[in-house]
Amino acid sequence: MIEVKSNCTGCGACIPVCPVQALRYSDDRRKVDVAASCIDCDLCLAACPIDAIGKMNTKPEVKRRAKTRTRI
Ligand code: SF4
Ligand code: SF4
Repeated sequence: MIEVKSNCTGCGACIPVCPVQALRYSDDRRKVDVAASCIDCDLCLAACPIDAIGKMNTKPEVKRRAKTRTRI
């Protein structure tokens, strides 16, 4: 599962990237929220220009691989 961090500015750049429309503006449109329909495809991680999307409860190595899309 991904998490949207507190530094999200609500720019919306990640929203159209999601294949299942799991990213939506918050009510005040100052950030985005992720819905339970997220399928963990990780496409939005690369779409955010300020690294405001991260993986929840994952080890650093998993985060690094998700970000760089490398395989082991
Ligand atoms: S990880 Fe994939 S499915 Fe989940 S919010 Fe990001 S783009 Fe959408
Ligand atoms: S691209 Fe990043 S800063 Fe912009 S709305 Fe998405 S998570 Fe927030």
